[in-house]
Amino acid sequence: MGVMTRAQYIESLEKLNMKVYMFGELVDKPTEHPIIVPSMNSLAMTYALAEKAEHQDLMLAKSTLNGETINRFNYLHQSSEDLIKKIKMQRLLGQKTGACFQRCVGMDAANAMFNTTFEMDEKHGTDYHEKFTKYWRYIQQKDYTVDGAMTDPKGDRSLPPTKQIDPDMYLRIVERRDDGIVVRGAKMHQTGMVNSHEVLVMPTIAMREEDKDYAVSFAVPSDANGILMIYGRQSCDTRKMEDNADVDLGNCKFGGHEVVVIFDDVFVPNERIFMNGETEFAGMLVERFAGYHRSSYGGCKVGVGDVLIGAAALAAEYNGVPKASHIKDKLIEMVHLNETLYSCGIACSAEGSKTKAGNYIIDMLLANICKQNVTRFPYEIARLAEDIAGGLMVTMPSDKDFKDEKLGKYLEKYLKGADGVPVEHRQRILRLIENISLGTAAVGYRTESMHGAGSPQAQRIMISRQSNMDMKKALAKNIAGIIELTQ
Ligand code: SF4
Ligand code: FE
Repeated sequence: MGVMTRAQYIESLEKLNMKVYMFGELVDKPTEHPIIVPSMNSLAMTYALAEKAEHQDLMLAKSTLNGETINRFNYLHQSSEDLIKKIKMQRLLGQKTGACFQRCVGMDAANAMFNTTFEMDEKHGTDYHEKFTKYWRYIQQKDYTVDGAMTDPKGDRSLPPTKQIDPDMYLRIVERRDDGIVVRGAKMHQTGMVNSHEVLVMPTIAMREEDKDYAVSFAVPSDANGILMIYGRQSCDTRKMEDNADVDLGNCKFGGHEVVVIFDDVFVPNERIFMNGETEFAGMLVERFAGYHRSSYGGCKVGVGDVLIGAAALAAEYNGVPKASHIKDKLIEMVHLNETLYSCGIACSAEGSKTKAGNYIIDMLLANICKQNVTRFPYEIARLAEDIAGGLMVTMPSDKDFKDEKLGKYLEKYLKGADGVPVEHRQRILRLIENISLGTAAVGYRTESMHGAGSPQAQRIMISRQSNMDMKKALAKNIAGIIELTQ
């Protein structure tokens, strides 16, 4: 097949028999649930844009595994130019959805898995790379969405996996059989899992020799026996359940989601195991996946930032103050911050390099700088958007009141802004700012900017490791004319 249409994607999800729980109940049809559908729409946009000729340069690529045209989300990057296109594609999708479109996790995991398995085989004489390549060829051919799963619950953070009181705090192998393994554990914050056909599991930290049962990587269908998902709550999520939910949603069509995924003794056949006890490679896989995903934020968050900046500019217009100098200056600041993030995404891609396996990897230092900036700038952009929007974004009555026979006329009269602007437009834009900075999309735009792809301290450790301080000190000594005394 190679490339699915939006409709085919949704149809393919309907066929899955996933166990998704929300508010304590099994969801009957996830593809029809009003809280889930907006997130499905966002992911479906990765298929819909691939159907449009004007976006195909970014959305499609030629597979190096089977020569077919495939979606770039399933592509193994072959050059720095490819890595740059990936960032541009993510910005485009952020612009079109104003939310997290979820499909990047699998793309980033696959690229990391492809080159890490190659190096594992080189050292151990194993056949993980061949198995993974075969698996990924299948994914490309089906145009499936694969969720990458990394974050374990971790229990007491000061203790390694084997020292936890509960041994399941990190996902682990509980049984080894001739035909495969049985795994138990959980993965947290699983972006887009309900909208994915498969899940690709990786360890979450570097491992020691004794952690063999925890150094495991594999892929299974998202409806495999023993997998269950518990849907994450988002601020204002039940607004989506209201009758005729529209204006008060802010973002009327799109959203994102995260779930807790439980692996309750899930069987993984041999051909889908890509790491099985090679503890010394767990760290490499984690770092590479994190690096790819940290660069991704220089695309997606920038696209959502574009939407938020546009909303702030419109709020100013609707308030009648688009020409006020302090408003203009705040908008400039927002653009400056947003484009700085984009520059980081582009820079770590442009400085990408070829791995031993042949696919390209971003520059690690710059990708970590990118993500470190993402832990800060979207907060400042959201703060400025709230400043421009005014308090009404959080005090405005519901749309039902606007539509009420008795109350509507008062709200229409007193919430009027600039002449010629319908009150409903003002409502919609303020709700959109609320949505991105405080509502359902804030998961992806704010808190995920902080913690997604690793919390700020994780990047600082990588920055410290990659900073090449000895070289910098040598430069300073040279310029200052310091000659070392030798003994
Ligand atoms: Fe993609 Fe961004 Fe969502 Fe991560 S947060 S899955 S990079 S859209
Ligand atoms: Fe993420």
